[in-house]
Amino acid sequence: MGYIYKESKSRFLGGVFFSFLKMRYHSLLVLLLSIGIGYYYYYDDGYSNQSYSDEINSNRYPDVVANIVKRQFGVLSARFLPATTTTTTTTTTTTTTTTTTEATTKSTDEPSTLFPSTKAELNTDPATMLRRSILKSFLAVEKSEGAGARVRRSIGVPQLRNFSPFLMLDHFTIGPGAGFPDHPHRGQETITYLLSGSVDHEDFTGSQGTIHSGDLQFMTAGRGIVHAEMPGKPDPANPGAPNVGMQLWVDLPQELKYCEPRYRDLRAEEIPKVKCSDGKVEVKIISGESQGVESVKDLAYTPVWLLDITIAPGGRIAQPLPKGWNSFMYILSGSVHIHQTTTTEDEGTKVPEYHNVVFHREGEGVDLSVPESSRESARVILVAGKVLEQNVVQYGPFVVESEEAVYKAMRDYQSHTGGFERAKGWRSEIGKAMG
Ligand code: MN
Repeated sequence: MGYIYKESKSRFLGGVFFSFLKMRYHSLLVLLLSIGIGYYYYYDDGYSNQSYSDEINSNRYPDVVANIVKRQFGVLSARFLPATTTTTTTTTTTTTTTTTTEATTKSTDEPSTLFPSTKAELNTDPATMLRRSILKSFLAVEKSEGAGARVRRSIGVPQLRNFSPFLMLDHFTIGPGAGFPDHPHRGQETITYLLSGSVDHEDFTGSQGTIHSGDLQFMTAGRGIVHAEMPGKPDPANPGAPNVGMQLWVDLPQELKYCEPRYRDLRAEEIPKVKCSDGKVEVKIISGESQGVESVKDLAYTPVWLLDITIAPGGRIAQPLPKGWNSFMYILSGSVHIHQTTTTEDEGTKVPEYHNVVFHREGEGVDLSVPESSRESARVILVAGKVLEQNVVQYGPFVVESEEAVYKAMRDYQSHTGGFERAKGWRSEIGKAMG
């Protein structure tokens, strides 16, 4: 995901664009037109370079637009996101210089050995657990993206970048007629958590399926995948249910950037649930651990915790998180109070729905509550991830280590090489509804 197809606009503009091309106007006109289209598409949503580049790679004229921009300007790097972290020579992993593709491939044979699943070191004692304090909290503003689709993006926006390993977070609603037809990815994992309705997926490896409300999909893009994500068939029991979900993009460690792509679905019934605080708090342990209960293992290569927490009025939970990881919380509904100290007088900082709260990296966990006096429960998604000390250069759906690697990704995608071989002549069945 990451962009939404704009049916009517692209038809109209496409017609204008190609009629100009046919007339063999002076190249200056083509240049002006491509600038115009660029502005229309990429700057109207007010998002970021990310949306810009998602569309350049994925809309109806991906190659035409990209090639014109490249030819006319010679370079696309003005739109690259800057490298986020400078890789020092003292990386945590033993850096055996992998100069050849063969060597890189070899090192990814056993991805699970990169992060052996040792039990996280946690302070589970609420009395002594050092609370993580709030680094920032901001509203994820809802944007309309084409017909019938809305997105609240809160990672990969000016307020929150360079937040390893997290690259993007969208709280999306896809109506009928909208969707994410065939588009590529490289170098990241995407985690989709469906809250309502259903979403179909299909990719060029032949894998396809549907996730329903409460299900998740973990997709490792690795060296390359082309897929489509479209709204599923209406549920006969609840035909009007909107397709609502969260999609999180997680960076892949350099050692796994070019691994084989893979999918893994996690069904709602596979997710352990645990209650605490006299039954006033329920935690769905999608990934990680809560109240001594552990989730299904090996969902994503990059270590990430995901907890779906519902707190009824009067409920409170001190949730430990792995030390040193980055963490944030997105409020799906209601208001939650965040306690940053262990003192009993601390009433907590109230944060309303659709806010993303980023926590400081220091501390052993977070302390959340909903006051007895509150009229409604709160539901939050609490996420933590291991920080990856590496360069990140993102160009839309390509998340790689350098600008050169971005060029290579674009070339590979356009020429069906380097992992995109199966894109040649491939078109998803589900994406045809839109194209
Ligand atoms: Mn996608």
